[in-house]
This record gives sequence, structure tokens and C-alpha cells, in this order.
Amino acid sequence: MKQPEYLRTVQGFARRELLGKDAYLDSLAEAPLPLYRRFAATGLANWWVSEESGGLGLGLEEGVRIAAELAYSDAGAAFTLFIPVLTTSMVQWYGGEELRERHLKPLVAGGGFAATLGSEHAAGSELARITTTARREGDAVVLDGRKAFSTNTGFADFLVVIARAQDDPSGYLAVLVPRDTPGITVDKRWDVIGLRSSATYQVSLSGVRVPAGNVLRGNGLRLLEVGLNASRILIAATALGIARRVRDVCMEYARTKSVKGAPLTANAVFAARLGQFEMQIEVMATQCLAAARAYDEIAARPDAGEEFLRAGTLKQALTTKMFCGQTGWQIASTASEMFGGLGYTHDAVIGKLLRDMRYVSIVEGGDDVLRDLVFSRYVVPVSKRS
Ligand SMILES: Cc1cc2nc3c(=O)[nH]c(=O)nc-3n(C[C@H](O)[C@H](O)[C@H](O)COP(=O)(O)OP(=O)(O)OC[C@H]3O[C@@H](n4cnc5c(N)ncnc54)[C@H](O)[C@@H]3O)c2cc1C
Repeated sequence: MKQPEYLRTVQGFARRELLGKDAYLDSLAEAPLPLYRRFAATGLANWWVSEESGGLGLGLEEGVRIAAELAYSDAGAAFTLFIPVLTTSMVQWYGGEELRERHLKPLVAGGGFAATLGSEHAAGSELARITTTARREGDAVVLDGRKAFSTNTGFADFLVVIARAQDDPSGYLAVLVPRDTPGITVDKRWDVIGLRSSATYQVSLSGVRVPAGNVLRGNGLRLLEVGLNASRILIAATALGIARRVRDVCMEYARTKSVKGAPLTANAVFAARLGQFEMQIEVMATQCLAAARAYDEIAARPDAGEEFLRAGTLKQALTTKMFCGQTGWQIASTASEMFGGLGYTHDAVIGKLLRDMRYVSIVEGGDDVLRDLVFSRYVVPVSKRS
């Protein structure tokens, strides 16, 4: 699919299925699977999976454009549709041919979903403290534990579970688990404050047994770090999409609102605010695309998997998510003030956009955690500083 064509397809889907349906998408109704099936019918589901595995093989730069376009209409839909990139990129690079054939290809063919189960309540962002265990029993691996948050698990085709190796407490595994494996219980779906068309679950694993060949190659925590590079950049791209929508919603409101006998659009304070938004949006877009290009450069190498392992968490992924989260929040917060009291009601969409924006600085590492990571990986080693 050529570039303009894929973007036109996404725009068509977003306008048809998402735009103007804010109340429904914000209602925490059943996860809107028919909606996501209609996205799959466009041929774009899991757009990043390689052509060898039956996908379109679109790069992360294209992914940024797609995620931002979807998020303009609904960030929850964008998040649902791109978050399998975290799971599938671990399988793509570290899963071996057999796992790709058996799990990745059918996922792409069916337009399905994959989910990653990393986070746990007590460990928080210190993932080295997770207590979910993986023990070897003959030719099998058996998983036990509880995972606090995992998006899409309720309807995913397969999961990748991050666990501590029971026979080696300093070792961590990433294990591919078909969703229909006995022993997986969805405890609850979280009543989240934003992204309410997505579905994030708390999940228990009890005696979940899979073949030992389902263990991905390498240290599970390192593989997770690698997988998070793409999804963090796409989370940043959702901030970009939401910010563009906020700008447009402000312009629509200002045309109908009169201040001192003139439309708000003619007001100098309003003009300065919108000029500031546009500057911020422009830099967010440039930054997301630059980070995606840096990622794509590594992904294009024949030894991409090894190179990503060497690099670990990419500086651009961390800084772009932090920058877009903080800038997007400034934009959404300033914009919500512009609506006066209406901005504090469910009648104006700005409240939804503000709540949706909040996730960018929380999910896949809050800013305190990411600042700490940037410091230890990219400030302490003098050679890594910009
Ligand atoms: C909608 C949603 C979807 C999610 N989807 C998934 C998913 O699919 N898979 C998955 O595995 N997880 C998922 N998560 C989990 C998410 O990634 C984590 O919630 C997030 O990374 C924050 O981690 P935490 O909840 O452990 O909080 P913590 O990181 O423990 O943070 C709690 C507090 O401790 C502080 N803190 C923590 N570390 C530091 C530090 N080093 N320095 C200073 N302060 C610190 C924080 O600033 C914060 O104030 C999801 C969460 C949500 C809300």
C-alpha cells in the first residue's frame, strides 16, 4: 500500500467510525470489537508487521502518522490498534521462525490483537521486583502470578508474559502464551478515566502451561525495553493527534463565542494562545517523526534484533514521550480553561480530550521513571549526552 493511500484509508475510517462519536467512545461500553473488526477490514490492522509474516511492513514513521490520525478522532481507538506493536515486535525479533509462523502470521491474517503482561501492583515500575514466576517442567514452562494492567488481553489472540525464572531469581523470561491456554483469568476491566474505548485488564495466571519453545530468546526485561521503544513513540504520537483536535475544537468554539462584542477568534489573548499551540504541535510532530526515523534506521538493519538489544531503551523514545506528554498536557489544560464552565462539563468534548491526554505521561513509564532512566542511561555516561 502506497503512503498516501494508507493515510487516506485511515482518515476515511476515522471520519466514518470515530469522529463525532465521542459520547459513545467515552462511555466504557463493552470493548467495541465490531469497530475494530471494521478497521481490520481496511487491511491495515497490525500495519507494522513484516511482509514475511504476512503484514504490510510499514515503518514507524508511517505508524506515527497513522496513530496521530486515529488519535485525532479517538485516542482510545488509536491505543487499542497500535499497542500490539509492543508484543509483536518482541515476537518478531526474538521469537524464532516457528513462533512467527504459528502465532504472528495467523494474527495478521485474522486482523487480531496481541497483549503484553508486564506490570504488577507491588513492583510498580521496578520491574526487576515482579513476582510472576516461570518454572520449567520437562518440555513445558508453567506461569503463575497476577498482572495489574494489560491492554487488550480480554480479546487478544496471544499474550507475551514477563516473568521471573523460578530456577534463577535474577533471570527474567518473556513467554508467548496463546490466549486460550487454561489458567488465564481476567479478574476485571479497569474503569479508566481516559482512553475509554480501549480495554485494560487485571489478569491472574494460575498453572498456565506452554511449550518451552514459547520462551523468547534473551532476558525478558531487556526484550520488554526493546518492545517499548516503538509503543512509546506511538504514545507520543497520540498526544500529537489529541493536541491537533484540541486546537480545532478551540477554533470552532471561538467562532461562536463573543467577548467584548467581537468573536473570540478576533481576541488577541486567544490568538496568542492558538499561535503558541501551533508552535508546540509543530515541534511535537517533528520530534515524533525524527524519533520514528531513528527507530526505523535500526529496524531496517539485517541484525536489527541484536542492535536493538545492544541499544536497549532508545533515548529518542524516552524523550519524545516525555516531551509530547508534557506539551500535550499544557495544551489540553490551557484549552480546557478557554471553555469556561462548559469546559468542566461532559457537554464539551474538551474534558474527554484532557482525560485522554493524561495517559501519555503515565502509561509505559511515568515521567519520574523516564527522567530517572534518561539520567542513568544518557546523562551519567558522558559519551551518550547530546
Ligand atoms: C490505560 C493503561 C494501560 C496499560 N497497559 C499496560 C499493558 O498493556 N501492559 C503492561 O504491562 N502494563 C500496562 N499498563 C501499566 C502502565 O504501564 C503503568 O501503570 C505505568 O508504567 C506506571 O507504572 P506503575 O503503575 O507501576 O506506577 P509507578 O511507576 O510505581 O508509579 C507510582 C508512583 O511512584 C513514583 N515513582 C516510581 N518510580 C520512580 C522513580 N524511579 N523515581 C521517582 N519516582 C518514582 C511515580 O512518579 C509515581 O508517583 C497500563 C496502564 C494503564 C493506566
